Amino acid sequence: MIIDCHTHAYPSELVTDPRAWARVHGESHWSELVSPPDRPSIQGWSDLDSMLLSMDAACVDQAVLLGWYWEHESTCRWHNEAMAKWMQAAPKRLIGFAAIYPNENVIDQLEAAKSMGFRGVGELHMGVQDFDGGGPYWQAMARWCVENNWPINCHATEAAGHDHPGSIPTPLQNFVRFAGTEPDLKLILAHWGGGLAFFEQNPNLRKTLKNVYYDCAASPLLHNMGIFKQMVELVGIDKLLFGSDYPLRIFPRLEKSPEMMRYFRTIREESALSESELCNLFGDNFARMMSLH
Ligand SMILES: [Zn+2]
Repeated sequence: MIIDCHTHAYPSELVTDPRAWARVHGESHWSELVSPPDRPSIQGWSDLDSMLLSMDAACVDQAVLLGWYWEHESTCRWHNEAMAKWMQAAPKRLIGFAAIYPNENVIDQLEAAKSMGFRGVGELHMGVQDFDGGGPYWQAMARWCVENNWPINCHATEAAGHDHPGSIPTPLQNFVRFAGTEPDLKLILAHWGGGLAFFEQNPNLRKTLKNVYYDCAASPLLHNMGIFKQMVELVGIDKLLFGSDYPLRIFPRLEKSPEMMRYFRTIREESALSESELCNLFGDNFARMMSLH
C-alpha cells in the first residue's frame, strides 16, 4: 500500500487568477508563495482527474489531501467544502486533512470537518496562524485531535537556509512546546521538520517528541537525496512518512506539469533505503499511525 501523505487540492476558481482571488479573500501570504510577482512560480495545479492519473502512474494507492494554512477561518471552511467534494468522488483514494484556523471557533471547525469525512488536520503554519507558544486555541485543538485520533500536519520552515521570499519562520522550540503540551498528539512535521530531527539526539527531547513524525514533502527543492538515510539514522525509519507536496513542481527544471512518479522513482533509486525501509516510508508507517488496517 503506497500512501502519499502530503498533497494539496485547490478549487478551480482560485487557480484561474491566484493573485486576484487572494486580494479579495485577504490571503496574501498564499499568493506570495504560489504566484510571486517577481520570479517564476513552481506551483503546479491539478484537478481531481489529473491527480488520480498522477497517482495511478506512480502506483500511489491513497493520497492525503491537505488543506492550507489560510489566514482566515472563512477560507478554511470554504476550502474544506471544496476538498470534501473530491473526497466524495474518490473515497477509496483520498484521505482528507482539514484546513483549520485555531481561534475561538476551533472546536466547531473540527466537528464540522469530522462530519464532512475529514480524518486529520493540516497543513497548519505556526508562524502564519498565530501560534503563541501553546495558546488556548491550539491546545484545545490538540486535545480534540488526541481524543479523535487525528494527526496534525504542520509546515516546518528550514531553521537555517537560503532566504526565500514569502518564507515565514517556524521556530523549532514551538514544535517542542506544542508536542510537550499534548504528548499523545500525533504531530507530523512537514519538510523533514525543518531540522528538529537533529535535536532528537537529546534523550529527554526524544521522549517529548515520541509521537512526532517527519514527512519528506518537497525535499528535492531543499536537500540532496542523502537526507533520507541521515533521517533514518537520526530518528529511525518508523517516524518517517512519504509525502510529495503535489502539485508543487518539486523538480522544477524537469517537470513542466506536476507529477508524482518522478519523486517516487528518485526515492527508490537514490535514497539508499532498504526494501523494508521503503515499505515503511511509502505507506506502512502512515497506515499504522492512522490505524488504517
Ligand atoms: Zn509546507
